[in-house]
Amino acid sequence: MKGIVVCISGPSGVGKGTIVKELLRIDPALALSVSCTTRAPRAGEKNGVDYFFITHEEFARKRENGEFLEFDEHFGNFYGTLKEYVSNLARQGRTVILEIDVVGAFKAEAYYGGTCKVVNIFIKPPSFEALEERLQRRGSESEEQLRARRLRVKFEYGQAEKFDYVVLNDEVARAAAEIRDIIQREQNNE
Ligand code: 5GP
Repeated sequence: MKGIVVCISGPSGVGKGTIVKELLRIDPALALSVSCTTRAPRAGEKNGVDYFFITHEEFARKRENGEFLEFDEHFGNFYGTLKEYVSNLARQGRTVILEIDVVGAFKAEAYYGGTCKVVNIFIKPPSFEALEERLQRRGSESEEQLRARRLRVKFEYGQAEKFDYVVLNDEVARAAAEIRDIIQREQNNE
């Protein structure tokens, strides 16, 4: 496949979503992988743009058919990346952005590695403490939930060296511009 799969990953709470939005704004030629979810659309969200909003039954069917590259459950709802959606864009020569957790990024690399170029980018918070602080400040979780989250963040934080690039999220506009530069160099095979 001629295209490139770019995984934007990093610990939860690091600000991946905000950076990806800015990245797509400054480089509209990039394509975003639209995931499936069983959760209801929020106000303003569009089917096929923000997510494909599907039922639990449909999700289970797709999972059994092996249509997902990876999937996960968050807050009682399922989310999954569609292999065909990403492959179609890559076949057309597009650069496809996957906003994905670290485990998902490794799965994407394993799946697409032999067929097209995969670039894995890890978004790093200014410090581990800053991330901890952000988790604490949300204030909505029990001690038990916080402990589980902290453990996960610690694991995710420790995966940085397995990525092709590490980008510091000190400022959204700067981090997005750095990622755009990385992508352009990869597109030009530099
Ligand atoms: P939200 O409901 O706020 O849009 O997303 C909830 C969580 O699901 C976020 O952490 C988001 O990154 C994650 N998520 C969205 N799409 C996918 C996906 O395709 N796969 C996985 N594993 N997580 C996803």
